[in-house]
Parts: sequence; C-alpha cells; structure tokens
Amino acid sequence: MNLAADLDGAVLRGEIVAVFQPQLDVRTGCIVGVEALARWNHPHLGSIPPQTFIAIAEEHELIGEIGDFMIDEGCRCAAEWNSPGRRVEVAVNVSAAQLLTLDFLERVTDNLAKYSLPADHIVIEITESLPVLDVPEVADRLVHLRRLGLGISIDDYGTGYSLLARFGTVPATEIKIDQSLIQASGESTHLIGDAVERAHAMRVRVVAEGIETEEQLQRARDLGCDRVQGYLLGRPASECDTARLLSVS
Ligand code: C2E
Ligand code: CA
Ligand code: CA
Repeated sequence: MNLAADLDGAVLRGEIVAVFQPQLDVRTGCIVGVEALARWNHPHLGSIPPQTFIAIAEEHELIGEIGDFMIDEGCRCAAEWNSPGRRVEVAVNVSAAQLLTLDFLERVTDNLAKYSLPADHIVIEITESLPVLDVPEVADRLVHLRRLGLGISIDDYGTGYSLLARFGTVPATEIKIDQSLIQASGESTHLIGDAVERAHAMRVRVVAEGIETEEQLQRARDLGCDRVQGYLLGRPASECDTARLLSVS
C-alpha cells in the first residue's frame, strides 16, 4: 500500500526514468534498435525494479502516467538519435491497461507529432500472454497502429498459453523469443527453430532476448534470428550513455 502511495505522482517528481538496452542486427553486429525500460528511483528505497512497480501501477490505476511518460521518452529519444545517416528504432513496452484506454492511439500519434517522428521509428511491445489481445477494440487499435507504420512486437514469445496462435490475431511485425527459451538448451532449440520458420514465412522479424553467452549468441544466429539483445551485447543504460554508444557504433 505504501509503495502504491509513493508511486502516485512519481513521474511528475522525476523519479521514473527510462533506460535503453541495445538490439543488434545478428548479421552486421550494428545497433539497429533499443528497448526502453522503466526504472523507479524511490527517494528512500533506491532503485525499484519494473517487475515490482509495474504490477502495482496496474493495480492502482497509475500505469497511465507511467505508460504515457515512457511513450513520450521513447519518441523524444528516437527523434534525437535518428538522423539521415543513422536509423535506430525505439521499442516501448505497453501494458494491457494502456491498450484498453480509449485514447491510446491518440496518445501515440500526439507524441509522434510532438517530436516530428516518423511512425516506423517506434515499436510497440506487447506481451503474448495478454488476454486483452482478444478484445476486438484492442485488436483494432493494433491494426491501426500498424497501418500508421509503427512496429508491433510480441514480447515474451513462447511463454504464453497460446504460443503460435497469436500470429493470426495480432498484426505483428516482430516476435521476441523469451529469454527462458534462449537460455535453455535441448527441446527449446526445436521450438525456436519452428517459431523462426513460421515468423519468416509471414515476414515477421525475430529477436532473441536474454543473450548472456557467446554460445547463446551462436545458437540464435544458427537458428536464423534476425536481432539479438542481452547482457552479452549491452546492459540497459541511461539516455546519455546510450547516445554515446550510438555515436561510436
Ligand atoms: P521485458 O520487456 O521482457 O524486458 C526484458 C527484461 O530482461 C529487462 O528487465 C532487461 O533488463 C532484462 N534483460 C535483458 N537482457 C538480459 C539478459 O541477458 N539476462 C537477463 N537475465 N535479463 C536480461 P527489466 O528492465 O527489469 O524489466 C522487466 C520487465 O518489466 C520487462 O520485461 C517488462 O515486462 C516490464 N517493463 C519494463 N519497463 C516497462 C514499461 O515501461 N512499461 C511496461 N508496461 N512494462 C515494463
Ligand atoms: Ca519488452
Ligand atoms: Ca521479454
């Protein structure tokens, strides 16, 4: 309860910040995107991980202000980091409650306009297991975003109950194979290979996340993943450090 009270207004007080983790093209090794991840710097408790505070925010209807802030930050940084000679997509995580908001589309398009950002520089990450994907209005909203040119990524792929069924219902441009599959060996190889094949047949890009070892990187490469993300390739970093990383890569 205390955390929920503290979280109220945390965005306005500047306690929520976005950090960014690089995503590399598996063939060129270049940074082609970054994922924006929220952090809460609590004034007394220090850094609180998103797995703790996002759930609280959702429960107490505070996810709206955090979600809006993250979309704004994603668009602002994408506008800053993209130039004629350099293309970097920024992926923003979106929760069920945000997708259900009536003006979600408007919030996204308002931010694109605010920073004069082409829509195809932003990827919306949604979790595969979200039951809201079955809500017709949500599906319509995603189709609309897709038509505008935004990327739609199915996050945590392989952990949801539906596994491959989502291909038909969500206008995905990308799937992110969950790190539990990437980090396991044996049977998961078959699952990943199957997912890559099906995704590519529909011209859907595949990101392998949670890459921690050279061996996992090689496996992702061998299995045909398009992009890789994980501690081996880069930890989530501040806006400033990310800008520096992008300028030298
Ligand atoms: P996610 O979207 O699956 O994000 C990937 C998580 O894995 C991040 O944790 C990232 O720091 C971590 N990670 C990246 N590479 C590695 C690796 O090689 N090994 C391991 N063990 N972990 C790795 P993080 O930042 O703590 O975020 C956790 C979750 O919180 C995210 O999972 C996402 O579901 C949620 N989240 C984060 N930011 C936001 C946000 O702005 N909005 C919403 N709705 N959810 C968010
Ligand atoms: Ca994500
Ligand atoms: Ca994930």
